[in-house]
Amino acid sequence: MAVDSAISSPLGPPACEKDAKALRFIEEMTRNADPVQERVLSDILTQNSQTEYLRRFKLNGASDRDSFKSKLPVITYEDLQPEIQRIANGDRSAILSAHPISEFLTSSGTSAGERKLMPTIKEELDRRQLLYSLLMPVMNLYVPGLDKGKGLYFLFVKSETRTPGGLLARPVLTSYYKSEHFKTRPYDPYNVYTSPNEAILCPDSFQSMYTQMLRGLQDRHQVLRVGAVFASGLLRAIRFLQLNWRQLSQDIETGTLNQKVTDPSLRECMGKILKPDPELARFVRHECSKESWEGIITRIWPNTKYLDVIVTGAMAQYIPTLDYYSGGLPKACTMYASSECYFGLNLNPMCKPSEVSYTIMPNMAYFEFLPHDPNSAGFTRDSPPKLVDLVDVEIGKEYELVITTYAGLCRYRVGDILRVTGFHNSAPQFHFVRRKNVLLSIDSDKTDEAELQKAVENASRLLREFNTSVVEYTSYADTKTIPGHYVIYWELLVKDAANSPTDDVLKQCCLAMEESMNSVYRQGRVADNSIGPLEIRVVRNGTFEELMDYAISRGASINQYKVPRCVNFTPIMELLDSRVVSTHFSPALPHWTPERRR
Ligand code: AMP
Repeated sequence: MAVDSAISSPLGPPACEKDAKALRFIEEMTRNADPVQERVLSDILTQNSQTEYLRRFKLNGASDRDSFKSKLPVITYEDLQPEIQRIANGDRSAILSAHPISEFLTSSGTSAGERKLMPTIKEELDRRQLLYSLLMPVMNLYVPGLDKGKGLYFLFVKSETRTPGGLLARPVLTSYYKSEHFKTRPYDPYNVYTSPNEAILCPDSFQSMYTQMLRGLQDRHQVLRVGAVFASGLLRAIRFLQLNWRQLSQDIETGTLNQKVTDPSLRECMGKILKPDPELARFVRHECSKESWEGIITRIWPNTKYLDVIVTGAMAQYIPTLDYYSGGLPKACTMYASSECYFGLNLNPMCKPSEVSYTIMPNMAYFEFLPHDPNSAGFTRDSPPKLVDLVDVEIGKEYELVITTYAGLCRYRVGDILRVTGFHNSAPQFHFVRRKNVLLSIDSDKTDEAELQKAVENASRLLREFNTSVVEYTSYADTKTIPGHYVIYWELLVKDAANSPTDDVLKQCCLAMEESMNSVYRQGRVADNSIGPLEIRVVRNGTFEELMDYAISRGASINQYKVPRCVNFTPIMELLDSRVVSTHFSPALPHWTPERRR
């Protein structure tokens, strides 16, 4: 796309000529949001006109908005399941996309307990790369001098599998880090990482984290920003340092690499960088052996100007802990993206987390917005939803995001609820409100009410031989521990006190619940160590009645009262915790392998 150099950018002044070009691109896209959207839709429909999907809905080659909106249904992942399964099984015909599906991206959203498989095509990598290329030019507007140092980012690849038909299935970031776009990225003084590619690409999460931390410690004075994709990831890195600083300082002192790091490419690359540095080793030992870890990030990396982590949406629960470890450093949420499509960026990344708005870039896909009414019963055939175009959303209103992508998703409901906060030129800016149907989340796991219900049912079967049942339950994502863990409050009806379930039985109930959780949860427990053992807190009889009394005293209607299946309001937590009679933790890891169960 040609960049009109005559358009003066209100996002400015840029730090360098490369940034000026990126900022002009943002201006161009946001000023022409509607024509760009029209062109994107037309491109997608023309490119995919002969696909089975578009032919099924008799689009007959039309590429205009009206035909598109009148003929194509708004769908969810479940509607596409048969097509996705065929592609996964090896059908290479043009089902959703005229371009060959290059791989599946495995979403952290699940369907029937397994990660959703998002088809993608090669050219989408360019689009993702383009969005990444806009982030630093925007950041440079707010934080000068980032070319004078480095970024300490904890980035990881995750396991990948192949579908029965031989296509790779892996998370979008794994796909990106393993791409030539990332591996052979040109040197950019504004975007230098402390982590070598070898460390980011190492599939063993311990070895990867160990070397990334070691490099971060070595370069501690050069580090200007510290980050991970999500807040939970950065806190995991801090926890890793708590557990491993002794070995790390030993390596720094001697200039050798711990034998636990066995990956040959890592050993080779670190062998060239490691030099004995007793003074640094002494410093690390001194700081890490202090009882308080308050402000540890700024103590070890004193030149850090901001944390680069997403703290919007479910990650907001980590803000107090991040503030504790960083002495309240600014937290920059730079982009909003998903496996389905990368959406947009934050044009004011140093703002407070509560004020973060993402500007959707109109060139990324065709975007529509389903007005979100939490009280509506849903849509029927007779009253189909009326979707709003990108430029027509209204400030203050909430919408669910619906996308049509180059890879062949058509009018696909992402499941994110967004609120319009304003506009940059004619492109709207959105506050991320929440993801639909998520009850509990620690890392990228998303557990909904039905999954929790099923887990409680499965676990409570173990109580039958004790003549005991679960009369009520609720849950809580406890993020005060690192990693965080699920807490499930149970009120039990024990019919035979002489034969009540023992601690061992309740521990097995915890494990049974974990076994019932979706694969993203189990992967977090087993492979990523990003979720701690599930805990059951048994509360004394009558606690849930007290909970209801409390809700009614605060204005809830007695007729409509339902037990909340997840709680996070402090007085309620305090009430529940004051009634706890016993606590039990899962004694083992649930089963998980990269292979899908279904
Ligand atoms: P995945 O499909 O696993 O890549 O997850 C994508 C989802 O993560 C999005 O649909 C959002 O629900 C969530 N997400 C991504 N970026 C952000 C962000 N900046 N703030 C809040 N939630 C986000």
